[in-house]
Amino acid sequence: MIKDTLVSITKDLKLKTNVENANLKNYKDDSSCFGVFENVENAISNAVHAQKILSLHYTKEQREKIITEIRKAALENKEILATMILEETHMGRYEDKILKHELVAKYTPGTEDLTTTAWSGDNGLTVVEMSPYGVIGAITPSTNPTETVICNSIGMIAAGNTVVFNGHPGAKKCVAFAVEMINKAIISCGGPENLVTTIKNPTMDSLDAIIKHPSIKLLCGTGGPGMVKTLLNSGKKAIGAGAGNPPVIVDDTADIEKAGKSIIEGCSFDNNLPCIAEKEVFVFENVADDLISNMLKNNAVIINEDQVSKLIDLVLQKNNETQEYSINKKWVGKDAKLFLDEIDVESPSSVKCIICEVSARHPFVMTELMMPILPIVRVKDIDEAIEYAKIAEQNRKHSAYIYSKNIDNLNRFEREIDTTIFVKNAKSFAGVGYEAEGFTTFTIAGSTGEGITSARNFTRQRRCVLAG
Ligand code: NAD
Repeated sequence: MIKDTLVSITKDLKLKTNVENANLKNYKDDSSCFGVFENVENAISNAVHAQKILSLHYTKEQREKIITEIRKAALENKEILATMILEETHMGRYEDKILKHELVAKYTPGTEDLTTTAWSGDNGLTVVEMSPYGVIGAITPSTNPTETVICNSIGMIAAGNTVVFNGHPGAKKCVAFAVEMINKAIISCGGPENLVTTIKNPTMDSLDAIIKHPSIKLLCGTGGPGMVKTLLNSGKKAIGAGAGNPPVIVDDTADIEKAGKSIIEGCSFDNNLPCIAEKEVFVFENVADDLISNMLKNNAVIINEDQVSKLIDLVLQKNNETQEYSINKKWVGKDAKLFLDEIDVESPSSVKCIICEVSARHPFVMTELMMPILPIVRVKDIDEAIEYAKIAEQNRKHSAYIYSKNIDNLNRFEREIDTTIFVKNAKSFAGVGYEAEGFTTFTIAGSTGEGITSARNFTRQRRCVLAG
């Protein structure tokens, strides 16, 4: 019902920028509009042209001004963006998408992230500067479509680059809207056209064209393993922000009331779409009942073994040859109530998360579901908890969480799981700056090592020497 209301609201809303009626000339593509092109070649050539203008005629201070306008536009349009994503992808929760846009607009680093290193002495002066790559090809996921476009645009422009986006085909309208919004914001403060561009109908062919184009100097992919592999095989420098499957450990020193509430809030956030969202729990058996009872007080519903079997049939598909499970994409990011209705489990309308007790290698543990379904595994001690958590994380070097007051357990898990994000006694979103310190990103590059990406990751090191 909320969605229907929002759909009708959107029809009455218009993009809020102060260049609604700007009379813009397009460069080399009459069908283009505010960075959205029919043709991938034109999307790239316009971004190449824009990058030359940006690097020759705009100072760092002016780039910061441009970024301020992008932040403003993202905040002013957050309701429209959240509504559009729901309409197009049918995944997630409206209120959480608003929060994600606020986070990305406010806390993605800008030009302040760039630093210069200098050495001076008897032999002169040497400086190493962070310089732009030029034009970046960025691939974005369906699960955070506009959040990633806004995040990448801020960081990449801050570093002096321009960017061509190949968005997920299932979120192409949102991506086009975000690109248009960003270009209008840039132009409104005197910035050049086409600092960010995209293709109206992104495909694997347009992605291939971006990967192979000689003017694209850096690739940055946010999404699943297939896409990351494609980028890493391209022969070009690539930043790969791939899949996660974050485990949570709860030991018997933890504040169990807090853990129960916080884990459910993190797991059900945007219906578990974020790659960082809690995906499975390993709890000491002596506090497991207490943890479950606290989860049930916080909008969770527990299902039994038979109901788990029905849920497996609904949301997973098994490959008979490899015996591996994959998700039924139809169910990604759906409301918990829809699953429960489908397997005939009565639940209140307030339900946000489905919990179930399973074994350590259960398919719900080993598969990145991106659904508000949280498998819970009882463990006897920290050794078993860490062993199982590592197996579930599958060395993706993504994210992991623990609730504990035992310093040894906290340290050991952090060292052994070795993830890019490791949060102690708080929910997953603390790892990207929500109700915690540190900046925000929506591109977490675990496998290629950049980690919590920001402007500095979109730069080349350039040394300038004055000798003698
Ligand atoms: P997806 O992999 O289906 O799509 C991501 C992008 O890659 C899309 O633009 C898509 O068109 C393209 N793509 C898909 N398969 C491809 C292939 N074989 N070769 C080349 N390109 C391909 O992912 P999704 O469903 O949109 O997003 C969810 C996934 O992304 C999850 O696995 C999640 O963990 C991951 N993710 C990671 C991060 C991060 O920062 N590490 C952030 C968000 C999402």
